[in-house]
Amino acid sequence: MAKLLEGRPIAEKIKEQLKEEIENLQVKFKTMPTLATIQVGENSQSAIYLKSQKKLAKDLRVEFREHLLSAATTESELIDYIGKLNQDKFVTGILLQLPLPSHINSKNIPIHIDPLKDVEGMHPENVGQALFGKMRIGSCTALAVMELIKSTGVDLYGKEAVIVGHSEIVGKPVSLLLLDKFATTTTCHIATGQRGYLPTHVKRAEILVVAVGKPGIIQGEWVQEGAIVIDVGINKVGDKIVGDVEFEKAFERAGYITPVPGGVGPLTVTMLMRNLVEAAKLQQEGLSPS
Ligand code: NAD
Repeated sequence: MAKLLEGRPIAEKIKEQLKEEIENLQVKFKTMPTLATIQVGENSQSAIYLKSQKKLAKDLRVEFREHLLSAATTESELIDYIGKLNQDKFVTGILLQLPLPSHINSKNIPIHIDPLKDVEGMHPENVGQALFGKMRIGSCTALAVMELIKSTGVDLYGKEAVIVGHSEIVGKPVSLLLLDKFATTTTCHIATGQRGYLPTHVKRAEILVVAVGKPGIIQGEWVQEGAIVIDVGINKVGDKIVGDVEFEKAFERAGYITPVPGGVGPLTVTMLMRNLVEAAKLQQEGLSPS
């Protein structure tokens, strides 16, 4: 039977470290980090994230500035707005709330955020740093996954790691970060599933990270005895939130498993604040994000 890997206790520990770092920043540089968030149009989905971001910002005494733009804002108007926040010396980090209205392509935006203020770690410069194992600001979800794996104390050297999902925000950065720890990585995606190879790969996984968004796509009986299972998926089934892994059966076989909700989710916003603190340090040190 698995040990539950809950996000909250780890998030609490990191929060205490961040409080200390923020106090040090204030003593050293006489400044508190300021997070500017941009929302284009009202959205009930982002409202939930916004609430938890605001709460954590308040706990950490980080200034939180909300910028609500009209739903009719065009892509070039949004880019201009970001340009102004890039220039604003009182803004430490810029966070774009998703989803954006359908007339804006969210993939076109991260390149316009100053890489030193890119608290979501999606600017190509920050993404590229992961290739060199030098990343200081990275995808919040990928960093949350890595913290959960780290908390097990398991040595990743030479371990078989299987990542299901290859999105820019989760699957691809997690693959790179695990590779950097000398795990042997396999990244599965839609084509792996279509060819029927998903069970073959999953059964080999000593570390399994799943970020697909399909409830129960990973059958519990595929999970190797003793594996570390990180379920990133968030799916609404009836009035319940479930992950991508068949939890009950996987729980019987895994060594460690994250619950959904309560696993990756609570750590993601903490990683956002850690990126903000890193951004503040980089800006004060006058460094590039390497
Ligand atoms: P996405 O929607 O961008 O991509 C889905 C991935 O799953 C793709 O790589 C696709 O190729 C793969 N896929 C689809 N069907 C498949 C199949 N049959 N077999 C194998 N692979 C298949 O993914 P995303 O944005 O990374 O989100 C994935 C899930 O993670 C969603 O449920 C999302 O809500 C959740 N998520 C959670 C957090 C968090 O903080 N907990 C953060 C981000 C995303």
